[in-house]
Amino acid sequence: MASRPAVALVECDDYAPEHVEAALRRAVDLLGGLGRYVRPGMRVALKPNLLRAMPPEAATTTHPSVVRAVVRLVQECGATAVIADSPGGPFTPALLRRLYEKTGMRQVAEETGAELNYDTAVARVPNPEGGLLRLVEVIAAVAGADVVINLPKLKTHNLTRLTVATKNLFGVIPGVTKLGYHAKLQDALAFSQGLIDILRCVRPVLSIVDGIVAMDGNGPSGGDPFDGRVLLAGADAVAVDVVAMALVGWEPLTMPAIKVAVEWGLATGRVEDIELLGDPLEGLRFAGFRPGSATTVDPGLLPHGLQRLLLPLIEAHAVDGRRAGSGEVAAESLDVGTVPAGIRRWATRQLVVAPQAGARCTGCGYCAEHCPVAAIVVNGRRAHMDPKRCIRCYCCHELCPQLAVELHRPWLGRLFFGQ
Ligand code: SF4
Ligand code: SF4
Repeated sequence: MASRPAVALVECDDYAPEHVEAALRRAVDLLGGLGRYVRPGMRVALKPNLLRAMPPEAATTTHPSVVRAVVRLVQECGATAVIADSPGGPFTPALLRRLYEKTGMRQVAEETGAELNYDTAVARVPNPEGGLLRLVEVIAAVAGADVVINLPKLKTHNLTRLTVATKNLFGVIPGVTKLGYHAKLQDALAFSQGLIDILRCVRPVLSIVDGIVAMDGNGPSGGDPFDGRVLLAGADAVAVDVVAMALVGWEPLTMPAIKVAVEWGLATGRVEDIELLGDPLEGLRFAGFRPGSATTVDPGLLPHGLQRLLLPLIEAHAVDGRRAGSGEVAAESLDVGTVPAGIRRWATRQLVVAPQAGARCTGCGYCAEHCPVAAIVVNGRRAHMDPKRCIRCYCCHELCPQLAVELHRPWLGRLFFGQ
């Protein structure tokens, strides 16, 4: 591992453009200025989290004030800013138009002269260092840029605990091609190996995280806005994820992507090994930040006899078995690891939260079209998810336009881990 990665934390109370711009300038200056990464004449792809066509106040997408401030800094370097993402669902110019309108990106482009990407071409990028993905399909706007700046939103995620810098890059995989990746990378560990491969392929020069209003609970689209009041920035995406996990008060190694990066020798996963710049982490912690239901784990609640029964299985497959000295077990890792597929499928069905269409379902079928393993059928104007086929990728939960997909833990899972 090279030198200690640096991550800047800067408090920012709200999205008033002048506040965001001041906070961003401070964060980037702490890292040595944007001129370290962006040169005149470059084409710079800005990759916000534009998961769905939702308004900024829903806290699902990177706020336009953050994107606007980054565009201005890029332009001051004499470079061209291109806003590009591929949200869940089809990757078409018509859907991009609606997405940019709803998320406030069109207005940012009008005010600043930044380009909005409508090119739906795909580049197949060799990834010789990849652990699982030796070839990655990437939207051409990102693959063809001189440099990429990653602009994640800090949110909970039911597969990866948080979506921050590493997870945000999954959006460079074009539209429904994502389904194939979910089908290939069928559990949290494999999916996270894919994320680290995508990171090594895209190599963003900076990750600037919108944590001013974050999302807790059932993110990444069905959770609640959380007053985070912080911008994070760093050149090392894994280090940024480590600091984000520390901010919300969770052990960094329980994020599978960080665990993979550590195993692959790309990081230590320890906050102490990161140079923290700007405002002190302690003063910025997210008190009361709630995890998603798939990651609500308190093994201390297990009845003693059941603990003895289950612990060998948990220990064999833990993302990060034990937290220092406490003997606690990160049981969200029950669905990951290299256990025989049959046992893993059984444990997943019994213990891991499953999607179910709730009363708001209109039977539109959008989830069925985007389920990577065809586990959803619509009849009687209601979607039905087959728990035996479902691989718990939570795409339906992310993408349902009615936010109708609820996550329910099976009775055995409730018995062990609570609701
Ligand atoms: S769950 Fe959502 S996406 Fe699926 S059919 Fe119902 S309303 Fe449509
Ligand atoms: S039913 Fe939902 S969570 Fe299950 S595999 Fe399909 S899209 Fe993923």
